[in-house]
Amino acid sequence: MKNAYLISVLDNVKKRNAGEPEFIQAVTEVLETLEPVIEKRPDLVEAGVVDRLVEPERQIIFRVPWVDDNGKVQVNRGFRIQYNSAIGPYKGGIRLHPSVYLGIIKFLGFEQIFKNSLTTLPMGGAKGGSDFDPKGKSDGEVMRFCQSFMTELYRHIGPDLDVPAGDIGTGAREIGFMFGQYKRLKNEFTGVLTGKGLTYGGSLARTQATGYGLCYFTNEMLKANGKSFEGQRVIVSGSGNVAIYANEKATEYGAKVIAMSDSNGYIYDENGIDLAAIKQIKEVERKRIKEYLNYHPEATYTEGCKGIWTIPCDIALPCATQNEIDGESAEALAKNGCYAVAEGANMPSTPEAIEVYFKNKMLYGPAKAANAGGVATSGLEMSQNSQRLSWTFEEVDEKLHGIMINIFKACESAAKEYGMEGNYMAGANIAGFLKVAESMKAQGCV
Ligand code: NDP
Repeated sequence: MKNAYLISVLDNVKKRNAGEPEFIQAVTEVLETLEPVIEKRPDLVEAGVVDRLVEPERQIIFRVPWVDDNGKVQVNRGFRIQYNSAIGPYKGGIRLHPSVYLGIIKFLGFEQIFKNSLTTLPMGGAKGGSDFDPKGKSDGEVMRFCQSFMTELYRHIGPDLDVPAGDIGTGAREIGFMFGQYKRLKNEFTGVLTGKGLTYGGSLARTQATGYGLCYFTNEMLKANGKSFEGQRVIVSGSGNVAIYANEKATEYGAKVIAMSDSNGYIYDENGIDLAAIKQIKEVERKRIKEYLNYHPEATYTEGCKGIWTIPCDIALPCATQNEIDGESAEALAKNGCYAVAEGANMPSTPEAIEVYFKNKMLYGPAKAANAGGVATSGLEMSQNSQRLSWTFEEVDEKLHGIMINIFKACESAAKEYGMEGNYMAGANIAGFLKVAESMKAQGCV
């Protein structure tokens, strides 16, 4: 990066947010790709758009006390980062995972600004979460945690203010408990959360949306480069919400998914992963992926996550967590003939991995574009709630598909316009940024 203004903004970010490497990583990637825009648009510099964009509008940190099944008081830390409201009410998921701290929520909130902008729907960027680990907890413990979390959060959110959703560790069960508590505290039934159950305002196809959307995006990227999913060997990391439905759609497109993982290890099934078994283990029984061997003893299970990227494949869809592909794993993918990586997880590739993708001319679909289908469908859930009606699965899926095609086109054309043809990462950052930047400028220094 050579632009003096951007260098000074980044220096400030590093000083002000020391100890938050994920946040600094996310900001660095975006600022680096914005260089050509900033050079062309001194008006945005004058309006202080980037200086303002890197600082969240509001950061809420709170205590979440709850009582476990043994009657003992437990205390977690809750977060909600309301990052940017230039183009709509705050919108972003809630992550429940022991690794959660301020830097993770800030990086996710920052990414969310551009992702939401790319969907073309009116949603600002936000993220929330807690270091609570739902794994191994009883339903009662999860409920008491969620109720306590919402007992503080409810005063900061609302259907026209901030609409949280799911993320790692927050699925339909957790959203249900949080929604129930919000309703009770506010004494009103509104679409304050998305990812709700179908019987109380949820949208059909929301569960599938991020994984399906990832494959719709990837399919466009492949098509634009003379390729397709048909007959390709695909690795999908993770085995949660995003991974399961990415597997489902990739398989529908004719690909063979040969490996999946959880945070303990990965399974490799040369015959193609039996998704019904995965759904039973993960969605119904909430067990470890190792159990897959009980269904398919001919498959293999390996402890540890990193080795999954050493399995030869054509297309990699990382759908677990941040920084799961480092430079070494990316080298292994390239060496084994992988030619496309599209991100279901948020920031799953380290900067070194991204360098490897570009060096090897691999197709690279960045998270904020490729996984935007989840929040896009959350936006559609908000529309249905406001209209007090619900669309069919097909209607929602068709809208989602259209949105993902348009996101790909927006990334493709922004990259081309700024002289970086084929660099969809730069395209996503630039296209997402411009809409937010114009809105911030128009609204004055707020
Ligand atoms: P889930 O909690 O449903 O699943 C997460 C999966 O990733 C699980 O298989 C989990 O394994 C694995 N995982 C989590 N943390 C780690 C880790 N530190 N190391 C290795 N594996 C890990 O979450 P989602 O599927 O909803 O989210 C996955 C990714 O997609 C996240 O990056 C999320 O931010 C992103 N995303 C999600 C959206 C959504 O709509 N849900 C929308 C856009 C992005 P285990 O079960 O062992 O913990």
